Amino acid sequence: MNLTHVGIVGAGQMGSGIAQVCAAAGLDVSLVDVSDAALDRGIAAIAAGFERQVKKGTLSADAQAAMLSRIRTATDHRSLEGSGIVIEAATENLELKLRILKQLSETVAPHAVIASNTSSISITQLAAAVTAPERFIGIHFFNPVPLMGLVEVIRGLQTSDATAASAQAFAKTIGKTPVLVRNSPGFVVNRILVPMINEAVMVLQEGLATAEDIDNGMKLGCNHPIGPLALADLIGLDTVLAIMQVFAEEFGDPKYRPAPLLKEMVCAGRLGRKSKRGFYSYE
Ligand code: NAD
Repeated sequence: MNLTHVGIVGAGQMGSGIAQVCAAAGLDVSLVDVSDAALDRGIAAIAAGFERQVKKGTLSADAQAAMLSRIRTATDHRSLEGSGIVIEAATENLELKLRILKQLSETVAPHAVIASNTSSISITQLAAAVTAPERFIGIHFFNPVPLMGLVEVIRGLQTSDATAASAQAFAKTIGKTPVLVRNSPGFVVNRILVPMINEAVMVLQEGLATAEDIDNGMKLGCNHPIGPLALADLIGLDTVLAIMQVFAEEFGDPKYRPAPLLKEMVCAGRLGRKSKRGFYSYE
């Protein structure tokens, strides 16, 4: 696999973060989005990320300029033709992703690896849109991409050993630690994390302790850097609820029942930081 040229589709929060770490690792990046405005926002976020490092003294201005110059932007897929690996990081919508992946598999070289950064859609289902689905895989980054060390590498039913090996080698090249996971709802980290958050909401709902005490309990008692309720506010309560609903539906096991208080909060528009109110107030 030609690891020196990476294509990224979607220049949002995740796509721009992935572009930043790839450019920092010395790779050439083609970043694609639907509009120049979206690309400009992505590049501005990347430049701000590098700028913080320059201010801290961990990156020189010359190195920053060199890294930024490795990222080319475009609104069409032709710029992805030379990529050895292309990562789809567009909006979380099944129909949209299927359309992008079909188009990608017609554009990129037949041996190129095609990956998706989806956090909830089945990798096996997405693979069906790709010609030669054995070259398709999930590469699930964590937010914020430049700071988080992990990527989950998710094999769909059709994914080949060679593709899994290439995806893991790619993750290491950009300084991430890959864990290999079989396709399943929520993969591994969200499968463990999100039910824990849901349980914290149950505990709050039962009045066992205040939100502050629940979070302090998990921070001081388990050494977690952030409490589960504060983390729910950061992720977005609507997202937490959506993931629990996927688990409940896909596994059919009552242990994944979303906490009634979580549903209430979402119905009330208390979504966490993004709506300025969740388990805590951010006014
Ligand atoms: P975002 O809304 O910040 O960015 C999505 C980008 O996709 C936008 O810039 C949008 O213009 C672009 N886009 C939409 N349609 C497109 C198309 N046809 N072609 C090219 N670009 C298109 O979303 P995000 O948070 O960056 O999430 C992107 C993906 O990463 C989703 O699949 C999400 O589930 C996944 N993910 C998100 C997180 C997170 O914490 N935000 C974590 C892990 C994975």
